[in-house]
This record gives sequence, structure tokens and C-alpha cells, in this order.
Amino acid sequence: MRTLIAGTSKHVLLASCAIIVIAIALALAPIPRSQPLSRVASILAHVPLLGSRAANKSSRLYNSAATSLDRGGGNHGGQSARNMAFEKELKVAQLAVARASILTKLVFAEKAKGTISKEDKSPVTIGDYGAQALIIAAIKHNFPQDEVVGEEEASSLREQQDLSSKIWNLVKDAKLSDAESDRLLGGPIKSEDDMLTAIDAGNSAGGAKGRIWALDPIDGTKGFLRGGQYAVCLALMVDGDVKVGVLGCPNLPIDDSEPLKEDMGTAANDKEGYGVLFSAVQGEGARSQALTRGAISEGHPISVKKITDVAQAVMCESVEAGHSSKGDNAEIAQKLGVTGKPVQMDSQAKYGSVARGAGDIYLRLPVRKDYQEKIWDHAAGDLIVREAGGQVTDIHGNRLNFSIGRTLRDNKGVIATPANIHAQVLKAVGEVLQAKM
Ligand code: AMP
Ligand code: MG
Repeated sequence: MRTLIAGTSKHVLLASCAIIVIAIALALAPIPRSQPLSRVASILAHVPLLGSRAANKSSRLYNSAATSLDRGGGNHGGQSARNMAFEKELKVAQLAVARASILTKLVFAEKAKGTISKEDKSPVTIGDYGAQALIIAAIKHNFPQDEVVGEEEASSLREQQDLSSKIWNLVKDAKLSDAESDRLLGGPIKSEDDMLTAIDAGNSAGGAKGRIWALDPIDGTKGFLRGGQYAVCLALMVDGDVKVGVLGCPNLPIDDSEPLKEDMGTAANDKEGYGVLFSAVQGEGARSQALTRGAISEGHPISVKKITDVAQAVMCESVEAGHSSKGDNAEIAQKLGVTGKPVQMDSQAKYGSVARGAGDIYLRLPVRKDYQEKIWDHAAGDLIVREAGGQVTDIHGNRLNFSIGRTLRDNKGVIATPANIHAQVLKAVGEVLQAKM
């Protein structure tokens, strides 16, 4: 009996301690309004004594809350962000993209002040090389065996000492404001030579075996130059299948519910209140959060818009006429009864916009028969849209095939839409293109 009482009072004591610890943890931790339950789950997970059971219970609550936010059937179920697959890969990718975006914004600011060069293309070159170096250095620090398919290579840069030192001057100082996050990326790159080595490590041939990252350090170079839309794009493929995708879009509005404006691609949006980080892990849903210099938060789930009348859909397309056939797009819009003007913007910001329901239909119809889309232009966006409840195929209705090298040579064009209207859009695309054969 004495042992029983002693045992019971020990349990009462343990339970009281646990309650006090939780109360203190909850009081000290700010709970963002958008994510209260997930935050509670993550706090509970760090409270000893209660361990994972309490945390799991909260995660279940959180998952059902996320589902109720779902506007279009996005895949937000599965595990809590805390127990996610590819958790480290996601964090490294998000932070690396955020750090590279700091550099691209700096390059743009210098260009705007006219201090970089009179030659139009040099800010792009500087931003591209610098961002690629920072991202690959972070990947290699954390996952030394992984390969990278990057858009740039440093051979010509090695012969241009001036340009190389300009890039190095920006790269060596680009860092996150959160010291622990910056440490996770391996801290600053050590030397100019290491920077060039990192750029060159983006030379993977791609393929169907192993862990390969696809990187576009600045997608949408023209948008970048005019202060419009561009994206820092990174995706991890395992055996040719995209598992993690991250898009840093420094000039998109932070607010997911802000509608796309017609001048999105042309207006200069490099200012406060802009900058969003989209991310997705296969089977875990897609998320967005403000693109900041600090630590990464869990963000919040995003989903494509549920379209009940396709005529109301917002269409997105490239700014560049050479990247996607605008004439075909217009005919397809007409067939679908869409009367709104298409929103033109550069880069994979189009995928991010569809994923959060700001845009609905992204069409990229081939202009040239022989053009092969590049995997770094699509890998992250493809996963983010699919995880947000969308469907992404080529003009023949086939999934994009990332497993055959640096290009999507098996596919022609891209159609990204909410899943429930994809068949309808695909049919319209087929009819318009068929009539031209
Ligand atoms: P966007 O900003 O969506 O127009 O796409 C930018 C990307 O288009 C660049 O990163 C290029 O790799 C790619 N690109 C270049 N030429 C073509 C082309 N002829 N057709 C489709 N994409 C292209
Ligand atoms: Mg690109």
C-alpha cells in the first residue's frame, strides 16, 4: 500500500512538473495565428516527460486543421512537419535558396544604383554564378555524395579574373541573419577558388540513379533585370523522382491570397512586402512562407484553387514570346471560355502562383519543335503544384520525366492546372494544336 501511495504521488509529481514545463514553454513561445496547433505540437515535442504521444496527438489535430484550409484538394495529410521525410534536405534547400536570394537582391540593388556594369547582362551573370556557388556549397557541406545539375559552369569565369572577384566580393559576405541557420549551410565559402569549385560541381549529367539536385540559380533572367518576377529554384531527385522542391520568389507578394495583377511580370516589385518561399516534399503537401534572412518556419499549407467554372480561371504564361506560344494560348483560352487576360510573368513564379491558387492555368506551349525543356526550369515547380493538388503534364498528357538527363527530352511543353480541370484543359490544348498539324 505504501509503495502504491508512493508510486501514485510520484506520478502526480511527474504530471505536475510536466504541466508546469508545458505552461512555461507555451508562455515563452509566440504562437503564430496561422499555425497555432502545429506550433503547440512542436513545443510539446520538445517537452521531456510527455514525449511524443502528446505531440502526435496535437499533430493529428493539426493535420485535420490543415485539411479544412484546403481550397482545392491539396495533399496536406501525412505526417506532421516534425517527422517529415527528407526533413534535413528540405531545411538545407530552403535556407540555401533564402541565402542565395539575399545575394540576388543585393546584385539587383547594385544594378539599380548602376554600380555593377554598363553592360546589361553582367548583373545576371554575377547573380547566377554567385547564387549557384552559395547553393552548391550548402548542398556539398551537408550531402557530400549528392550530385547537382546546375545551369552554370565556371570555366569561362576562371579566365575573367575581374568578374570572378566581383562575384567573390558578394558571395563571401552573403549570409543569413540567423547564425545557427548559416552554420547549417557550412558558413561562408572559404575562398574564391572554393567558390569556383562549387560552381563547377553543378556538372552532373542527371539520370535515373541516385540523389541529384536540379538547380536554376536565377530562373527568369529578364524578369530579374527589370525588377519583375524571377525565382531561385532547387529540387532534389532520388532515382529520377522529385522528392523535395523549393522556389524562392523574391518579388512575389508574401500574401497567398493576393490576386495576380496583369502587370505582375512587368512591374518592378523589388520592395518591402514581397518575397515568398514555396516548398514541397513528396507526399507531404506544399507550403509557403515569407522569404526572410532568418530561420525557416514551418510555413503554412497552400493549395490550388478549386475551379468550378473553367471560364473563371486565371491563366499564366511567360513574358518571353520565344519561350511559349502566346497565339496558341489565346486560342485555348477562347475554347475554354476564359475571357480574362493572361498574366505574364517570368520564371517558375508561375508554378508557385498556380500552387497557391493565385493563378490557375499555366500553359507553356512549344514554340520550336527542337527545344528540349531543362529539368532545372521545372523540377521544383512540378512537385510544388502536384503537392498542392494540381496536375502537371506535357501537351500529350504525360508526366514530366526528370530521369533521363539534364533535359526533358521525352516531353513537349507543360500544362499545370488544378487536378479537377486538367482533362478539360488538355483536351482544349490537343484540339488547338491538332488543327495546326
Ligand atoms: P520563363 O521565364 O518561364 O519564360 O522561362 C525561362 C526559361 O526558359 C529559361 O530558364 C530558359 O532555360 C528557358 N528557355 C529558353 N529558350 C526556350 C525556348 N525556346 N522554349 C522554352 N523555354 C526556353
Ligand atoms: Mg531558367
